Amino acid sequence: MLYKRLISLILMLALLCGAAALAYTEGDRLVVVNCSDYVTLRTGPSKNASRSIRIPPGRDVTYLGDGGNGFAYVQYADRKGYVLTDYLAPYTEIQHTPRTQSPSGHAVYCGNHGTAKYIWDRTIVVAIYADDSTTHWDFSREADTRQRLRNRFNLGVACAWLTEQARRYHGDCGGFVWDWYEHSDLYYTATFSQDMIHNNGGRDAAQAIVGFVHENVPTKELLQRYDAENIIYNVYFNAPNDSSFRSWSTGVLNREINAEQYYPEACVLVPYGRGRENNPAVFAHEMLHAFGAYDLYETYEGSPITQAYVDYLMRNNPNDLMNHCYFSDLDIVTVEFSAIDAYYVGLTGRPAEADKWGLGLSMFERYPLN
Ligand SMILES: [Zn+2]
Repeated sequence: MLYKRLISLILMLALLCGAAALAYTEGDRLVVVNCSDYVTLRTGPSKNASRSIRIPPGRDVTYLGDGGNGFAYVQYADRKGYVLTDYLAPYTEIQHTPRTQSPSGHAVYCGNHGTAKYIWDRTIVVAIYADDSTTHWDFSREADTRQRLRNRFNLGVACAWLTEQARRYHGDCGGFVWDWYEHSDLYYTATFSQDMIHNNGGRDAAQAIVGFVHENVPTKELLQRYDAENIIYNVYFNAPNDSSFRSWSTGVLNREINAEQYYPEACVLVPYGRGRENNPAVFAHEMLHAFGAYDLYETYEGSPITQAYVDYLMRNNPNDLMNHCYFSDLDIVTVEFSAIDAYYVGLTGRPAEADKWGLGLSMFERYPLN
């Protein structure tokens, strides 16, 4: 009896081990689980191998093969390396994303949601006035001071309007802490040696901003000081009116742009876009990306928006914030916050329109927050 049991136990163990080794095939999409902060991608299949990058829970990786020694050989963003298989599970459409707490007890980032999560929680907006290789701020010049005041006005109107939209769906809303005149700890200056303007959201520019934020902005302290859950970093450049560049944000593109453990969500704001002076709707548009909203005037790799829906909106309802913000009024936001925008920032359930046009799931449905 005992012998029989032992045999079956051995058989079972063999099956289990076999199953673990054979569970994945090359190209499988897996997700990081069983950790609260991150798992380490290493350069070899050993705990002593050097670290390549940290991967937060909820992120997905591609299985490339069995690394041996309890490790899987995987690809994460543009890096390949080894992760302990105990921290990997088969990818399913819905994955739960835990909030990662800072020592102060405040959420600092969530793997798939960046530094701005639910729009109804309180949000800090940091201002970074930045020079780069071609542009410069000089506040002894009246024009530059006026532009900074104009930015402040646009930001104030955008924050009030976003709060109003969130309250339509979610009565209890923490609002925004944004005024750097009132809160000098929200104001920074930066100098970037490269051209930050002309490639409209290029990977290098985004990473330079990430680097600046990591080194200079005390994010955890600010979140604690203002009792906030979200933080957005607005970077202002003094760019001339040139149709070759416009404002952009890292927002929902973070997963592609910056595969780091903690990634700041930033908006780059220039005074003009598409040949027009920037208005509050442009600010609201860029900031809404941080909360999970997608562009509706175009689609691109990784976007859940279909070309059919882009075409439909252009013909029938071009007045959506995420579609057409450049033509809003200079003093108030005259574009619309649609049910689609509300859905993608987690304020409402999936509207029938999303199914009708074959739109992909929102970040909050794919990766729910706890
Ligand atoms: Zn956009």
